[in-house]
Amino acid sequence: MPSVLIKNIGVLVTGNLKNPLRNADSIYIEDGIIRATGNGLNQRADIVTDARGMTAIPGLVDSHSHPTFGDFTPAQNSLSWITHYMHGGVTALISAGELHLPGLPLPPDPQTAVALALVAKRCYDNLRPAGVKVHAGTLLLVPGLKEADFDTIAAAGIRLVKFIFYDYSLLPNGEAERYVDWARKRGIKVKIHSGGVSRSGVSQVAGFDIVSRIRPDIVGHITGGPIPMPEKDVERIVAETDYYVEICSSGNARMVLSLMRAVTAKSAFDRVLIGTDTPGGTGIIPRGMLREVCFLSSVVGVPPERAICMATGNVGRAHGLAIGILEEGRAADLVLMDKIHGSVAKDALDSFAKGDLPGISVVMIDGEIRVGGRSQQTPPPERTAVIEE
Ligand SMILES: [Zn+2]
Repeated sequence: MPSVLIKNIGVLVTGNLKNPLRNADSIYIEDGIIRATGNGLNQRADIVTDARGMTAIPGLVDSHSHPTFGDFTPAQNSLSWITHYMHGGVTALISAGELHLPGLPLPPDPQTAVALALVAKRCYDNLRPAGVKVHAGTLLLVPGLKEADFDTIAAAGIRLVKFIFYDYSLLPNGEAERYVDWARKRGIKVKIHSGGVSRSGVSQVAGFDIVSRIRPDIVGHITGGPIPMPEKDVERIVAETDYYVEICSSGNARMVLSLMRAVTAKSAFDRVLIGTDTPGGTGIIPRGMLREVCFLSSVVGVPPERAICMATGNVGRAHGLAIGILEEGRAADLVLMDKIHGSVAKDALDSFAKGDLPGISVVMIDGEIRVGGRSQQTPPPERTAVIEE
């Protein structure tokens, strides 16, 4: 695999909220791994990329997506959507469950739910559309699962389960709490569909009382997917629990403002995750992650380098995955971007702060250049990388 040296980076965003900006203008990559980051690196490399002062950020990690079959989603009859998302800076997708499978009886019976998770996991382990890392096989929790089912999914490498179709009138029997314990014992994270009923029409409504009874790791689309829980419940989850809280493009923008007021009051920025909750019923939004970072930066007032952490490092940490951080020893998943010609901003971060979409020049996954020059999904950035082999 060719080694890569990226030089003349203007601003480097790490994806790590503790230290979101780093004083470094070069990155050296070997075997798809970042080996060195610093100023004026001059290692001999097979490929030299001149970033010409652009901003480098970790590849975006969509915290909530709905892949079904490879790069095809029947929910929107859309082909190549993952490739389009990659052109929007996305290098990893985390599945919130493959529930939009045509004909799938909802809620699925336990055997079908386990089988579906295993098939999705095995297929995406064997296929990376446009190089994108698809973390799929999320088990949809339904009544009647056995502890052995959790052994089965853990053995397959599945690291996420989700409450969406569970019948919460059964909570007094303790089964849901046992599911959470069985998952935790195996290093599997628990997500819950929060708020109102989903497009399926058969998901259960979950506000503060249900969510705090389940004790999930991640409250899926707390600001709506598409309908949020009541505002007071959102505030209580931030104030009274330590769960991760996910903001999705499918949701309610007014509730994002409420959520972020509560997050700011508690200094809980490390708990905020960004996803799209797409395709589902919302559609294909290749620039969805960028738009959400833009909204948080320009409307909510989160510094852009911190909003980027919510779309990268925070998502990896919440899901127990070593993705979303740009530093030595990590996979070289990164994006080079700049302001778009005509924007009043001075660079990519200033674009986010002013509410302007930045333009993408390079997307790299595992050290491999997937977009080199300009993205097909953003207008061209003012500066573009010069790549010499
Ligand atoms: Zn969803």
